[in-house]
Amino acid sequence: MKVYINGKFYDKKDAKISVFDHGLLYGDGVFEGIRCYNRLVFKLKEHIQRLFESAHSIMLKIPLSKEELIKAVIETLKVNKLSDAYIRLVVTRGEGDLGLDPRKCEGKATVIIIADRIVLYPEELYKKGMSIITVPTIRNLPEALNPQIKSLNYLNNILAKIEAINAGYEEAIMLDSLGYIAECTGDNIFIVKNNQLYTPPQCMGTLRGITRDTVLEIAKKNNIPIHEHVLTRHELYISDECFLTGTAAEIVPVVKVDGRVIGEGKPGKITLKLMKEFKKLTRTEGVRY
Ligand code: PMP
Repeated sequence: MKVYINGKFYDKKDAKISVFDHGLLYGDGVFEGIRCYNRLVFKLKEHIQRLFESAHSIMLKIPLSKEELIKAVIETLKVNKLSDAYIRLVVTRGEGDLGLDPRKCEGKATVIIIADRIVLYPEELYKKGMSIITVPTIRNLPEALNPQIKSLNYLNNILAKIEAINAGYEEAIMLDSLGYIAECTGDNIFIVKNNQLYTPPQCMGTLRGITRDTVLEIAKKNNIPIHEHVLTRHELYISDECFLTGTAAEIVPVVKVDGRVIGEGKPGKITLKLMKEFKKLTRTEGVRY
């Protein structure tokens, strides 16, 4: 495996950055997770745009243009001879000293691109659906660290993930400070009620997921009414269907939340339809190389 660091490719064992990099010392940086299906990089421009928006918000200057970064992603896939892959694009503040001051890292941002095969949830899970729980750790407040910034500081999500794992679950629903549904640790969440689709709005403290946006697009095209709406746990419990969306996981049906069976306890028909349409899109749309 060859890893891209600042314009050069290194073998995995030699792909190293400084211990003084503020990405390591403070989680000071931004990232994207991108998928490539059969030589089509799905929603690449959208991921690059979100990366630049995250960087802009934390006043981190990415040393490449959007076009150069797109080229670098494609180059990394080619060098690694991958046609199906998960791509991790990371931009850190770069090397500084032991203080927080980002000015010490000026002009030293580190750009890293790793392309690897993806380990998905087992196929079985997509057929049978997942059981998830709500956990005590609330999602970061947008007023403190906005979850729309896809930063390298994922401790908020990791704490929730640990709580889920400790309770014997794979994924956790994180609530906001008022107790409304925000999102999962690495995925957005949707419910279906009376053939209509609901998902929390961004202001509830969620990442603006690119898979989420894609699902909303597909729903619109298929005349499924959509609502970006505040959701309570109760509404989740009494929903007809529930599913999660994310670049790595794609669309995952959820059949149990906090011990409550959702709908008929199996992936619902709208979820299955969206999964099918999503799969079609990933096979036909994207930046080809
Ligand atoms: N929420 C969080 C916290 C995430 O980390 C992710 C995955 N990056 C998502 C939602 C889903 O976003 P996307 O569909 O863009 O992968």
